[in-house]
Amino acid sequence: MATPQLLIVSSSYSDTDRARLEAAAPSLSVGETTEIAALSEAQRAGITVAAFKGHKPFGTDVMALLPNLKLIANFGVGYDSIDAAGAAKLGIKVTNTPDVLNDDVADLAVAMLLACCREVVKADAWVRSGDWGRKGDMPLNRKMSGGKLGIVGLGRIGRDIAERFAAFKMDIHYHSRSEKQTPGWTYHADVVDLAREVDFLVVALVGGAATKGYVSREVIQALGPRGIIINISRGTTIDEAAMLDALESGAIAGAGLDVFLNEPRVDPRFFALPNVVLQPHQGSATVETRRDMALLQLENIKMQLAGKPLVTPVN
Ligand code: NAP
Repeated sequence: MATPQLLIVSSSYSDTDRARLEAAAPSLSVGETTEIAALSEAQRAGITVAAFKGHKPFGTDVMALLPNLKLIANFGVGYDSIDAAGAAKLGIKVTNTPDVLNDDVADLAVAMLLACCREVVKADAWVRSGDWGRKGDMPLNRKMSGGKLGIVGLGRIGRDIAERFAAFKMDIHYHSRSEKQTPGWTYHADVVDLAREVDFLVVALVGGAATKGYVSREVIQALGPRGIIINISRGTTIDEAAMLDALESGAIAGAGLDVFLNEPRVDPRFFALPNVVLQPHQGSATVETRRDMALLQLENIKMQLAGKPLVTPVN
C-alpha cells in the first residue's frame, strides 16, 4: 500500500467530501489536530498535505509533528485556528475557501437583523402557542428598511452584506483600516464614531488575536439603547461580557449572533434574553455552499500534489 501523503483532519466531512479527498491521494484520517501525536513517526513523516476542517488549534507545535508538511488546506475562509505566520516560517503554505460562501453568510446577516427588528421568532411562537387567538395582536415591532447601518470590516463578506442592506434603502456606513471605493457609503476611521452614528452594527471582521475584543465595551456603549448588533464573524471580535451586560441592562436593544466566544458551549446568560436571535454558527451551512467550499479546498490540494500554483493561498 502506498504511503499516506494526505492527512484528513476532521470528523465532520460528508461521505462525498471524504471520498473525493481520499481519491486525491493515499490518506490517513484523524478527528482533530490533538490526535496527530498518536500517529507513528513513519506515518507523520509521509504526510505532505493536511485537509483541515478541525476546530482545535493548528499551531507550530502540531506542524512540528509533520516534518514534511507543505500545505494546510483549510475548509473555510476564516483560518484563525491555524498559525499561518508560523507556518510560513516553516515553509508550509496555507489555503482557505474565500468568496464561495459570501452569499450565504450575507444572507444570514440580513435574516438575523430582520428577525431582530420584526421579532420573527417571537411572532412565530405567538401563532404556535395560540396567543394570537387568546390575546389578539402582538405588540408592534420595529422597521428595518431605511435605517442607518454600520459594517465593521468591509472585506469580501462585509461588502456583500452592505450591498444587500443598501437594497433595503438603508444608509450605509462602515469602518475598515482603510477607506474603500464604495458607492456612496460613509467611511469612519474610528469604530466608536461608526457605532455612535448608526442604529445597526454588523461585524464582519476576521477573527484571531489582532481583532480580539475589537467591538469593545466603549463601541457597544456608543451604539446606544436603540442599537442592534449582528455578528457573523467570530465570537472573539466582540467583548462578549460587555455585550451581555448591555443586552441585560437595555444599554443596547438586541443582537443577532451566529458566533460565540466558547461555542458550541454558549454562555447561558444568552438563553434568558428575549432580545436576541441565536444561531449555531451556520453562516455558510447550506448544501450548495458547503459543496463549493469542499471543492475549492480539494482544488488547492490537487494543485499542491501536482506541483502547480495554489488557487487561494493566504500566506
Ligand atoms: P476579508 O475579505 O479578509 O475581510 C476581513 C475584514 O477584516 C476586512 O475588512 C479587514 O479590514 C478586517 N481586518 C483584518 N485584519 C484586521 C485587523 N488586524 N484589524 C482590523 N480589521 C482587520 O474576509 P471575509 O472573506 O470577508 O471573511 C471575514 C470573516 O468572516 C472570516 O475571517 C470568518 O472569520 C468570518 N466568517 C464567518 C462565517 C460564519 O459561518 N459565520 C462564514 C464565513 C466567514 P480591512 O478592510 O481594513 O483590510
